[in-house]
Amino acid sequence: MTAPRNEALAECDSLIDFIAHSPSAFHVVENFAARLTDHGFTRLDLRDAWQVMPGGRYFLTYNGTSLIAFQIANGLLSGDGFRMIASHSDSPTFRIKPHCATTVANAMNRLSVETYGGAILYSWLDRPISLAGRVICKGDDPLRPEIRLVDFKKPIGVIPSVAIHFNRSVNEGAAFNKQVDMQILTQASASLKNLDITDHLCQILDIEPDALLDFDLYAYDPTPGCIAGLDDSLIICPKQDNLTMAFESYRAFVDTMDSETSKMLIILDNEEVGSGTKQGAASPLVKNVIERICAKLNLDLETSQRAVYNSFLVSADMAHAIHPNHPELSDPKNFPILNGGPVIKYNANQKYMTDADGAAVFKLACQKANVPCQSFVNRSDMAGGSTLGNIMTTQLPLRGVDVGNPMLAMHSTRETAGSKDPLFLRLALQKFLSEQ
Ligand code: ZN
Repeated sequence: MTAPRNEALAECDSLIDFIAHSPSAFHVVENFAARLTDHGFTRLDLRDAWQVMPGGRYFLTYNGTSLIAFQIANGLLSGDGFRMIASHSDSPTFRIKPHCATTVANAMNRLSVETYGGAILYSWLDRPISLAGRVICKGDDPLRPEIRLVDFKKPIGVIPSVAIHFNRSVNEGAAFNKQVDMQILTQASASLKNLDITDHLCQILDIEPDALLDFDLYAYDPTPGCIAGLDDSLIICPKQDNLTMAFESYRAFVDTMDSETSKMLIILDNEEVGSGTKQGAASPLVKNVIERICAKLNLDLETSQRAVYNSFLVSADMAHAIHPNHPELSDPKNFPILNGGPVIKYNANQKYMTDADGAAVFKLACQKANVPCQSFVNRSDMAGGSTLGNIMTTQLPLRGVDVGNPMLAMHSTRETAGSKDPLFLRLALQKFLSEQ
């Protein structure tokens, strides 16, 4: 059975809108924080004392780029675990360097950048680029300076291609030097006044230059995503890896608020650079939160450990669909198709955490939701990627499964997926979170 078409497209509209308003990982987390607050979740601070109780709904953020929300059901007091879904808030992009303005021919200014994560570089060429992130301003407490989010919103520049007349072999494959070729052209004028990025930040935030201490500023593609295809079967949009997973897991999480299960929504930063940061999946952040919840509920060691061993993690990150022009890149049997439903990802060497036990739990959730389910395995002669689940299990010995929606052009600034799949995933995750 397939989901009603109009409902699936409405889900895509909501997703596209969320991504358009989430230009950096800081904005992703603040947008989820605002929505959770509207749903009656209480914000906790990792640095302050907590009050948590059964029946309560809470969330916390760390570094402004990772978020953990949880609901405590009575069952946790007797050793039941959490239904957990983990995704990531970051996407490949460019980070603006501290001293970033460079001038060419006394007539053009550029922003110099570092690449963040494994971006498909050519996908960034010749399209409007904007900037977003956070600015740190002087505050009263030297160890807790003021943090302001910033979004330039309008296109501020472009990374222009070299004309084919200067590079006749461009269509045989282009190589890019990240230092030279990825600088963002921001100004072109015969009478050039070099406008510093910090001047713009001060203007946008209405602060004096000496109040600005530092910034974490990233490039993004401000052209909104769209539904496409002769039959509206495609969604073409930036950052579907991994905001589709973050958004649909959030939707399923609030859809099932009234069910009698303990649940945890986990959205972590820095997956694209290996997760080895204080706010990433390799840190003890999630473990610390679970231990702290158990301590605040006065659970003894045995009950706390039973809660971990009775928990189950769905590690949610996008998956590779078979490519229309290069089907030979996929395994001949285990290739997901767009609009074929969520994908269970397998890897013999455990780059994905899936085993038969974990896959079975997710397959059952899909069956109960009447949602089709697919499998992905890399060709045996290709290495493939990894994701959150296997890294999190180095901190927490959780049962679980790696899943994702099928997509094309992963890590392009405009990624393509199936327009039915976001709703499919939401429905399957609802069952996973709520079924007793
Ligand atoms: Zn991802």
